[in-house]
Amino acid sequence: MISIQNLNKSFGKTPVLQDISLDIAPGERVVVIGPSGTGKSTLLRCLNFLDAPDNGQITIGDLSVDAARASKADILGLRRRTGFVFQNYALFANKTARQNITEALVTVKGMSRADADARADTILRETGLEARADAYPASLSGGQQQRVGIGRAMALDAELMLFDEPTSALDPEWVGEVLDLMRKLAETRQTMLIVTHEMQFAREIADRILFMDGGRIVEEGPPAQLLDTPRDPRTKTFLRRVG
Ligand code: ADP
Ligand code: MG
Repeated sequence: MISIQNLNKSFGKTPVLQDISLDIAPGERVVVIGPSGTGKSTLLRCLNFLDAPDNGQITIGDLSVDAARASKADILGLRRRTGFVFQNYALFANKTARQNITEALVTVKGMSRADADARADTILRETGLEARADAYPASLSGGQQQRVGIGRAMALDAELMLFDEPTSALDPEWVGEVLDLMRKLAETRQTMLIVTHEMQFAREIADRILFMDGGRIVEEGPPAQLLDTPRDPRTKTFLRRVG
């Protein structure tokens, strides 16, 4: 079980997350939508302390962290339990596809080189990147780079995978292959929290959609309900604009 309770985060004096509470069941796919600047990325980044939350409680499986007094071990524990997929891939430019996948296995998971390499072989196969294993990011297409980004997160066997607009930086021709990989991952019952503007994909993959505005979860529900019969005027306005 994943549980976020009363999470708050400000940048300077500006509150960006206000009292976010959210439970995610094992295997559940939760999609977050909302206008830009409403704290969607910050929410994801706070869950593994890429941004440090001010206070609140984050529980992932057997680890429960009081954000206001998180220790180094707590933060490492959260990072071991979460995989993060960035909008801009955030690959190491000086490492090959394979090395991008093994890096965190060694540094975060504490795996041996040999085990990390074996795990990378599996992941390269699952992401369809065997032939590009030794290629550097600059020589990969955008779609391939993001598949490395997803593979790197998959390799961690994380209890929760976080996707921050994984297709927003891609040329349209590469979006499909990245969404296909995410669908494949969803079929394995991987628990996923996904920020996306791909409404059709959200409708298809989500068990539940959250609409965020102004640092709060305004409304949530199953895709058909939230997308077709939204209740809050802010949700209606947003959907009219993106639809
Ligand atoms: P979203 O992902 O919904 O577009 P973000 O979480 O990126 O929104 O940002 C929410 C708000 O927090 C925005 O007003 C943004 O400018 C601000 N913000 C995000 N990151 C930082 C930061 N590192 N320092 C200061 N302000 C930030
Ligand atoms: Mg964002």
